[in-house]
Amino acid sequence: LFQLSMPLNFLGSVYRETKQSLVDMGAMFALLKERTRIVDKPGAVNLPLLPRGYDVELQNVSFAYRPDQPILQGVSLRVPAGTSCAVVGTSGSGKSTILRLLFRFYDADSGSIRVGGYDIRDVTQRSLRAPMGAVPQDMPLFNDTIYYNIVYGRLSATPEEVFQAARQAAIHDQIMAMPDGYDTVVGERGLKLSGGEKQRVALARAFLKAPKILLCDEATSALDTSTEKDILQALQSLAKGRTSLFVAHRLSTAAQCDQIVVLEQGRVVESGSHSQLLARNGKYAQLWSRQATVDDIAEAPIPAAAR
Ligand code: ADP
Ligand code: MG
Repeated sequence: LFQLSMPLNFLGSVYRETKQSLVDMGAMFALLKERTRIVDKPGAVNLPLLPRGYDVELQNVSFAYRPDQPILQGVSLRVPAGTSCAVVGTSGSGKSTILRLLFRFYDADSGSIRVGGYDIRDVTQRSLRAPMGAVPQDMPLFNDTIYYNIVYGRLSATPEEVFQAARQAAIHDQIMAMPDGYDTVVGERGLKLSGGEKQRVALARAFLKAPKILLCDEATSALDTSTEKDILQALQSLAKGRTSLFVAHRLSTAAQCDQIVVLEQGRVVESGSHSQLLARNGKYAQLWSRQATVDDIAEAPIPAAAR
């Protein structure tokens, strides 16, 4: 069972650190599906470890992949350390782009992005990404054991920590029911996992990493409702006390966040808490009344203003 984690103990910490940063890159490339061309500026400093967490802030950020096609236009938002923010909006409005900019896969064309008070262009990419954990929409798996796929989140983790992370991601029991348990080989050449199972592996990895900043791109793919509820619940417990940014497709996810930002064609058209936005009776309220299912409404607290 533990044969894969064993050799790592014999490797130097430099190797382990390198691998750890590859871990983070892996999750982020999955989120991004492309490679970064950004290089650290000469004399870039390390973003310090901030035990109390990191504020995340976009100040008047504009960005285009191609000069003739503006994507984000003057976007400002601030997520105070330890709080959650949902970004909602129609497909193509630039939600995932915000996460890509936060990872610094691209630099903003104008405006600035601050993490923990530091302009992200002034710090090394490695130190910027160290406190970040990603739960991407579609998690690619290694052709390796499910144990390895989870421990990859933090290679120094003990088996007990791996099992605990899997429990927190509500996938431990399912793993135990697999033909070889945690030794089951998954991925393209192994046991194929469903979209929901893969996302829970991503979650388990994130639980193991325990990032100060959680960046999550919620899956749009149809998961069965009970799977989806498990995942949402696990995500919410992971997000607790962390600075978290959710690209939310389900308004029930948005409703649970401290703050919601509504994006339309690359501009912030509304922001506030769920109850503030319902009371405002604008775009979000429209979306809510149109998209929320009875289940969603039953799960999210309905503020007095909306009754
Ligand atoms: P959302 O997550 O809100 O659906 P995205 O942030 O992924 O939207 O994309 C916003 C817009 O940017 C879309 O119109 C998309 O086609 C475009 N886009 C995304 N990635 C690239 C890219 N690498 N090059 C050019 N255009 C892109
Ligand atoms: Mg997206």
